[in-house]
Amino acid sequence: MNYNIKIEKTTNPKVKPDDSKLSFGKTFTDHMFVMDYNPEKGWHDPRIVPYGPLSLDPSTCVLHYGQGIFEGLKAYYTAKGDIALFRPRKNIERMNNSCERMCIPKLDEDFIVEAIKTLVRLEKDWVPKAPGTSLYIRPFIIATDPFLGVHPSHTYKFLIILAPSGAYYPGGINPVKIYVEDKYVRAAQGGTGYAKTMANYAISLKAQEEAEKKGYVQVLWLDGIKRKYVEEVGAMNVFFKVNGEVITPALNGTILPGITRDSVIAMLKHMNIPVSERLITIDELVHAAEEGTMEEAFGTGTAAVISPIGELNYKDKIYTINNGSIGPISQKLYDSLTGIQYRKIEDPFGWVVPVE
Ligand SMILES: *Cc1c(COP(=O)(O)O)cnc(C)c1O
Repeated sequence: MNYNIKIEKTTNPKVKPDDSKLSFGKTFTDHMFVMDYNPEKGWHDPRIVPYGPLSLDPSTCVLHYGQGIFEGLKAYYTAKGDIALFRPRKNIERMNNSCERMCIPKLDEDFIVEAIKTLVRLEKDWVPKAPGTSLYIRPFIIATDPFLGVHPSHTYKFLIILAPSGAYYPGGINPVKIYVEDKYVRAAQGGTGYAKTMANYAISLKAQEEAEKKGYVQVLWLDGIKRKYVEEVGAMNVFFKVNGEVITPALNGTILPGITRDSVIAMLKHMNIPVSERLITIDELVHAAEEGTMEEAFGTGTAAVISPIGELNYKDKIYTINNGSIGPISQKLYDSLTGIQYRKIEDPFGWVVPVE
């Protein structure tokens, strides 16, 4: 593969939005990274071009059968005045696992990390500087064969787009209300739960919509067979602190292996706080909430980092957690993880990767 990335700069740069007015995923930078795949050349022609629409035949594979995957990570403007990524290699390893599940040809992990760095370096003036802001990085792959037929595509496009994003918690951290979903399911053993593939999100929308109508921001998914075991929350993994121990569902093929989840487990071990990955039943959680041993609950993901859960609704009964406010471990994890990401504190794990 030709590792030389061709760069075509825009002749029409956009006006950058004010750091304090950024939201999430609505504004994109001036350039994007693109690379193609075909069976003869493999992944080829890596290039950075002006950001703009794609031209696709209406029969294009991904538009009909959803053969596509994505990733999400961030670049941070740090307290040291540089730009850094957080464990980017992990995202590309996970992307290759998603490729494997979805019959998409794998990527060269070192090269993709280089491609991300090259694009972010070119767009460095787009990395917002206000507290809590970041540049969201969205790599994705779509199947591009113009062909109606349920069969893996022979051709693909890999792209990276960048979105400057506002602080997730502009007014301080607010715990969220979560609806425990016992009708719809997200994933089952043997399915695609562990892959960041497009279809997983399409099938989650209905439950999300119904939960929102009832005043909840996300759903907590239960296992696809018995609706008994806890899995994850929307696009976040989930943790509970019960009786002094932090617990999270073990990775069993139906749960997305979050990089924030992995980082939180490592940090808890580093802090000598007991943590275990295991099967967790919803009954056990409800019981703990009733008897007062449910101390904290929170979701983890790249977007929010730590999202405390203040209330669970299960079968229309309401369980309040820590009086609906953020608990001390959740706060400490948030401060430490964002402290490392923004290089405000020492990174004992070697997770931060400077771009320059
Ligand atoms: C992306 C995602 C997560 C969180 O993963 P991070 O790597 O921590 O951002 C959790 N669950 C689902 C379903 C996801 O799509």
